[in-house]
Amino acid sequence: MKRGFVDLHLHTTASDGTWTPGEVVERAIGLGFSAIGIADHDTANGLDPALQAVGERELEIVPAVELSASEDDIDVHILGYLIDYHSPKFTSVAERLRQARYERGVRMVEKLNELGIGIKMETVKDIAGEASIGRPHVADALLKGDYVKSYDEAFARYLGYHAPAYVPKYRLSPEEAIDLIHSVNGLAVIAHPGLLHRDDLIPKFVELGLDGLEAFHPQHGYYVTNHYIDLAKRYGLLYTGGSDCHGERKGRALIGTVKMPYSCLEALRRRRKELGKGRAGNLAV
Ligand code: AMP
Ligand code: FE
Ligand code: FE
Ligand code: ZN
Repeated sequence: MKRGFVDLHLHTTASDGTWTPGEVVERAIGLGFSAIGIADHDTANGLDPALQAVGERELEIVPAVELSASEDDIDVHILGYLIDYHSPKFTSVAERLRQARYERGVRMVEKLNELGIGIKMETVKDIAGEASIGRPHVADALLKGDYVKSYDEAFARYLGYHAPAYVPKYRLSPEEAIDLIHSVNGLAVIAHPGLLHRDDLIPKFVELGLDGLEAFHPQHGYYVTNHYIDLAKRYGLLYTGGSDCHGERKGRALIGTVKMPYSCLEALRRRRKELGKGRAGNLAV
């Protein structure tokens, strides 16, 4: 059995992280990780650059994504692990989500303009670069234009759920998200369930084929982590963990604060293999 530790939830500049895939890779190697999951919001564009950055070195890159699904008008984040991210099924949905995020960015800028804030979509686009546009990029544009003093203020005053420039995102249903992940041979895991406060939804997700719960997360305390380990066992699910590091966007970088044993990744691979037998797609591993 391979030793070492893994972090299965990291963001890059492909979504709203502040580090490029290459920078994430260097940090992970520096911290001694054996494997990392790059799980950007709604996109897998960080994966190939990360693999390239690793080159001949030892670090394994776990192909992942963090999809936003909507249920009861709330955002449920669903992690997809070991996905065939080059498959056209995946890339076409990701492209649709990217386009929808762009249009939502335009609408947020319009709303801000109506509120008398003169930011331009060009600025948001410059900040986002190659990334799929999200509220964090708009928040950065507000900071840059001196309309707010902090990133948190941008969310509190303008971009947060109940704030005046909030625009809901086009989201998949939980069923679509889980089916998409399964159709590209991946495993579906509810991200940070402790932040959702909706354990009542879990049985429905289990019926849809959920594979795991993210029990270890920086915002899950000891009690919450154990609660989700227990729930995972009760439902026959796996439990995973990761730091959800966004680089330095939210202050202190979180990489290194969650270290899962390598066996956590092996359990995902085992389950993928078992489920793969019953699925139509071919398994690469
Ligand atoms: P989006 O997917 O575009 O709706 O943006 C969601 C991202 O914005 C989350 O992943 C967080 O990184 C960030 N975010 C959401 N709400 C807040 C908040 N209240 N304060 C700071 N960051 C937030
Ligand atoms: Fe994020
Ligand atoms: Fe999330
Ligand atoms: Zn995340």
